[in-house]
Amino acid sequence: SSERKARSRAPAYLTFDDIGGQDRAKRELVEALDFLIKHEEISKFGIRPLKGILLTGPPGTGKTLMAKAAAHYTNSAFVSASGSEFVEMYVGVGASRVRDLFKEARSRAAKDGKDSAIIFIDEIDVIGGKREGGQQREYDQTLNQLLTEMDGIHTADTPRILMVAATNRKEMLDSALLRPGRFDRHIDVDLPDKKGRLHILQLHARNKPVAPEANLERVAGETFGFSGAQLESVMNEAAIYAMRDARTEVDQQHFSLAIDKVMMGEKTDREATM
Ligand code: ATP
Repeated sequence: SSERKARSRAPAYLTFDDIGGQDRAKRELVEALDFLIKHEEISKFGIRPLKGILLTGPPGTGKTLMAKAAAHYTNSAFVSASGSEFVEMYVGVGASRVRDLFKEARSRAAKDGKDSAIIFIDEIDVIGGKREGGQQREYDQTLNQLLTEMDGIHTADTPRILMVAATNRKEMLDSALLRPGRFDRHIDVDLPDKKGRLHILQLHARNKPVAPEANLERVAGETFGFSGAQLESVMNEAAIYAMRDARTEVDQQHFSLAIDKVMMGEKTDREATM
């Protein structure tokens, strides 16, 4: 899955400077995290602690990167899972996996000597979808366990736990998940605009011999609607074309071919699922 790919590609830690574009989303997230760090003041004022941040937006826009950068920014241990990992044939298995995830977060923080931990759940909609009209589903228990664990988070606890979840189907989520004290802070992580696309391309060009005359701004202009993940692919494919051409640098022609390739790839993916 894309999460696994991101994991194997990412360095040991990731900062907000490694995320291209997304200026507003980054600012909103940092604001929320700064608030979280001031936990002593917060409890003095009797303010309800922030427990859950929901990142919403299309696939490949950097939600996982944001969660990782949040962990680095707050000096927290980081554990992650994808919603689909909790879907099991046997009743109760998903719920016990949720318990294990929280246990893992606490023990990881203790091991790393950190006083906070971030638990990231990608594709939260898989376990947190709407429970309609008393319909019993095998993973209701999983969602209930998640809610129970979240309700058990207290500001005074060590380690402090912050939940971050991601979805591209916010409207599908059960309202119980969105209630105050749960995932009540939402941050949109949208497709990047042209400036954002240029920034993302520049970040992924850092380790590549891009020809000085190649124009990344033009590449950004020609990739309207591309996600960060697709822009990363454009960079990678362009480098492959350059290498195949036995060139020492990646030039504009390689970028044009790469844009076409990524665009075509998307089309075939979509046709395949139709
Ligand atoms: P999904 O919902 O599909 O898991 P996501 O929003 O979590 O997607 P990420 O896993 O964070 O997306 O991004 C996938 C890869 O795409 C990253 O590892 C990175 O290489 C690239 N990428 C995506 N967005 C950005 C960005 N804003 N800046 C730099 N690289 C990005």
